Amino acid sequence: MKQSKQLIQTLRETPKDADVVSQQLMMRAGMIQKQAAGIYSYFPLALRSIRKFEQIVREELAKDGCQEVLMPMVQPAELWQESGRWTFYGKELLRFKDRKEAGFCLGPTHEEVITDMVRRTVRSYKQLPINLFQVQSKFRDEIRPRFGLMRGREFIMKDGYSFHATDADCDREYWAMFNAYKRIFSRLGVKFRPVEADSGAIGGSFTHEFHVLAGSGEDAILSCDSCDYTSNLEKTEAPALAITDNGAAFPLKRDHFATPGVVGQVEQAAGMKDADHDGMPITQTSKFYLFRAMFADETTKLVGAVLRGDHEVNPVKVKNLVGALDLELFPLEEAEAFTGAKSGFMGPVGLKDVQMVVDLSLKGAVNLTCGANKTDYHHFGLDPARDLPGATFADIRLALEQDTCTRCGKGKYQAYRGIEVGQVFKLGIKYSKAMGCTFLDENGKDQPMIMGCYGIGVTRTVAAVIEQNFDEDGIIWPWPVAPYQVHLLNLDPANAEVNLVANRLETELEAAGFEVLHDDREGMSPGAKFKDADLLGFPLRLMVGTKGLKEGVVELRDRRTKQVTKVAPDAVLGAVRTAKDRIFEGLETAGGR
Ligand code: ATP
Ligand code: MG
Repeated sequence: MKQSKQLIQTLRETPKDADVVSQQLMMRAGMIQKQAAGIYSYFPLALRSIRKFEQIVREELAKDGCQEVLMPMVQPAELWQESGRWTFYGKELLRFKDRKEAGFCLGPTHEEVITDMVRRTVRSYKQLPINLFQVQSKFRDEIRPRFGLMRGREFIMKDGYSFHATDADCDREYWAMFNAYKRIFSRLGVKFRPVEADSGAIGGSFTHEFHVLAGSGEDAILSCDSCDYTSNLEKTEAPALAITDNGAAFPLKRDHFATPGVVGQVEQAAGMKDADHDGMPITQTSKFYLFRAMFADETTKLVGAVLRGDHEVNPVKVKNLVGALDLELFPLEEAEAFTGAKSGFMGPVGLKDVQMVVDLSLKGAVNLTCGANKTDYHHFGLDPARDLPGATFADIRLALEQDTCTRCGKGKYQAYRGIEVGQVFKLGIKYSKAMGCTFLDENGKDQPMIMGCYGIGVTRTVAAVIEQNFDEDGIIWPWPVAPYQVHLLNLDPANAEVNLVANRLETELEAAGFEVLHDDREGMSPGAKFKDADLLGFPLRLMVGTKGLKEGVVELRDRRTKQVTKVAPDAVLGAVRTAKDRIFEGLETAGGR
């Protein structure tokens, strides 16, 4: 393919509004163009990578018997009213009316439509299981679209849904998809991890996210350095730490420490002084959070969380523990009015109508300090089990890097940043029950189908590949999703011999199945061509120039290692094949575990 005939407009300058590497490089490489916030057009180079990744997805899903369908992007409001999400799904759902005033939305996801399709088509257990997927544009009116293709408003997703007669069969499919995703991201040639993730109000441990590891990732992940346990920080189990020996238990001494004006945890600990104490160790202080929890039946309740002073609360754990749909910090003014104390001096003792939850690392702890619910004062001698009757002890803290793994008890957690590129989820009967998607079982009895759903952010994945594979000069494409594999640089198109050799190599490599972009542009210095080639980042660069041909060689350069080999034109095909094999060997070790 001749580059002079391709629509590839590279930019020297980094666009001002591009805030992450993938967006900067894709815009500079002329791959994408912003049409509006979070809405992009894809040029041929970008589309080639996207289509290649889709192809990997399709091939791997076909191995598990998944069938491809295509659902409408415009969805009727009635379906969303049936599932209940017309009201519950927030402003990300773009709602509108047609000329007859009928309500519609742009599909952010397709559980409703697929459930409707299946309930109208499948009657008997004999037709189950079934696994359907599509590759399609989604629209989510994200509050803050950013990071280019990584958090767009319109983006391409592969979404799949499975339907089962039994719970066990749904679990089997879940793990089949889990393994298919592992194959997909391994083939892509990126470092990734499947991570246990929070399944929200649905509960259970049945969801995994797949993350591409990259410093720019929005999610924090902890992974054990000894076993396979890897989880999203939202979900990571925190070990109960050994209790600090605080001596014999004191009774609760109210307003014991006057700590005027100091609110930070460390300062407070230092400021707690009496005849016996010149400051307190931070592990003997406690921290208190007041939340308002919202429930499915639209009721609300106050929840107090008590943790050791040096620990942070994990609100997702608190939310799941109390079974809430949503949890928010009680607004400061209301909390001050409720407790009677300014921020920094609120505490759990004596509060009425608050469900108290205490972190496991404080189970058995005594002689703690806590806010006195009186500005500028702290209590001393808090024994949560004694002083907070009715409190629940549970793991509610954020796990920390270097915490001992709760699964194997041996390894330590290591921290990573990740970009969520896929998720597998066991839905159960949430949608099938609400929308009457039933089948007749072996006894002729009507049952709701058990469902799973499986998503991959196609465009986000392509951007994530770049977030993990770049250097100061540009993109470093892994072979499997590179727009082209070989960038053939014709360094002197005015020279007839150079042209002849370059054209011959292009034909020869293409005939052997390689994808070649032949930079045949005239009137450009070799330096400018090198710069563009580095920016576009195809795995191999083949340089044909006057000087080299005089010596009887062309140069082959590996984009990642920058290693250059000189080869005779006749030996190029063999050299390209060898280089490809070497690159693939590197890929196999890069995959996730
Ligand atoms: P996030 O937590 O990042 O908002 P999500 O969990 O809401 O994503 P899912 O509903 O699980 O997303 O969608 C499946 C996949 O679609 C995600 O794993 C992600 O790769 C991709 N995706 C979700 N939102 C976006 C977006 N705004 N832009 C690009 N890709 C997205
Ligand atoms: Mg998700």
